[in-house]
Amino acid sequence: MALKVRRDEVKTAEYPLVGGGTWRVEYDETAPCKVCGEPVGSASMGGVDICPSCDCGRWRDGRKWTPNDCPPVVKESLEKLKRMMNGAQG
Ligand SMILES: [Zn+2]
Repeated sequence: MALKVRRDEVKTAEYPLVGGGTWRVEYDETAPCKVCGEPVGSASMGGVDICPSCDCGRWRDGRKWTPNDCPPVVKESLEKLKRMMNGAQG
């Protein structure tokens, strides 16, 4: 009756390579997404350290990000971009 947790089971994701073949990468589904900080759950096309929601620019509940309502990491890079564009004028 003991619940067996297979810790040795490693998740893998496969990405098509330019010129053929696939790149197979192992990942930890419980590792935090580098954008939203939630466990990634599954790999996205954006990589194994970004969750599928963030890859689509959405919150986990499906709401689309806006410049004022997005993960801090995204907001930061948006502001950096804005500063760079403003800075270009002097
Ligand atoms: Zn995420």
